[in-house]
Amino acid sequence: MDPFGLTLAEARAWAASLGLPPFRGEQLMRGAYRAGVARFADVKGLPRDLAERLDAAGALAPASEVKRQESRDGTVKSLLRLHDGKLVECVSIPTVERHTVCVSSQVGCAVGCSFCASGLNGVERDLTPGEIVWQVVHHHRVSPVTNVVFMGSGEPMFNYDNVLHAIRILGDAAGLGLGRRRLTVSTSGVPARIRQLAEDEPQITLALSLHAGDDGTRSRLVPLNVRWPLAEVLGAMADYADKVGRRPTLEYVLLADANMTPAHAQSLAAAARPLGAHINLIPYNPVIETGHRRPTPAEVRTFADQLARVGGHATVRGARGSDIDAACGQLKRREEQPT
Ligand code: SAH
Ligand code: SF4
Repeated sequence: MDPFGLTLAEARAWAASLGLPPFRGEQLMRGAYRAGVARFADVKGLPRDLAERLDAAGALAPASEVKRQESRDGTVKSLLRLHDGKLVECVSIPTVERHTVCVSSQVGCAVGCSFCASGLNGVERDLTPGEIVWQVVHHHRVSPVTNVVFMGSGEPMFNYDNVLHAIRILGDAAGLGLGRRRLTVSTSGVPARIRQLAEDEPQITLALSLHAGDDGTRSRLVPLNVRWPLAEVLGAMADYADKVGRRPTLEYVLLADANMTPAHAQSLAAAARPLGAHINLIPYNPVIETGHRRPTPAEVRTFADQLARVGGHATVRGARGSDIDAACGQLKRREEQPT
């Protein structure tokens, strides 16, 4: 039993299955989230015999922090070890008005984008709902989390059921009570799942990792594009936008050597236009093994200007935590392959 992997309804049903009144389930959930305690015995108000039984059945926290890096800009990156010894990363990004946590949805990633550290060794396994939620709780204990983005390692659409479950727990008032609008799922583009998400959770925010508006470039950067080319992915995004009634967001990692010519700006604007999408331009956080180059500030400005001239609506995002390997998968990789 993993208390961080239960919705309120499930926590109540779980208590009932032990012959306890349903409020015990809710109490366990509230106690665990508020206190972020390591043992059931430390959850306030839980009967001692129950707490002992639960502690005997397994540790409360599904992961422990094994490494922590703090950036000059306040970004904190934590490397967590799961019960089976696997490592995942989560990042806390505090700003004046928000505290955003970036969570991983899988150990590694099967997609294998050419620029990303997470996909270098493929996928090792899916994270459970409790393991996803715990990444948020881990940082919530330090200061209340207001936003969660699924932008750590893994492709959320390939672990869809567990991601959906985690979203529901994070949204539950007895859990962290985050509004759906404060939750963002980022995907490299799985059409059937994009449409399904519009049905299952229309209130959350969806971002598509586009990275190129033409199939040739995109297939080189995001191998999934060979299976589901742009027409299919953008078609799914259009259906998504129709269904949820909001404009989608497109993410575009700026790779100096790969997707920053004037023609790339043209095709990006053309892809975004029918969706009325907003574009986030993200200067690449270099991962040595990939060979891709981070653009200079002047190159970023030139591309953003070209994009604006052809009608693209874009914001250049700052690379938070770039001094601490904050790009997804980098810290885990460094830990596993010390050089
Ligand atoms: N697999 C999902 C979500 C995790 S990656 C996806 O690809 O959307 C989250 C975002 O981080 C993606 O837009 C991805 O392209 C971007 N990203 C990955 N590695 C990066 C790096 N080294 N520098 C900047 N952005 C990176
Ligand atoms: Fe996977 Fe996203 Fe990294 Fe691509 S960018 S390898 S989809 S985690």
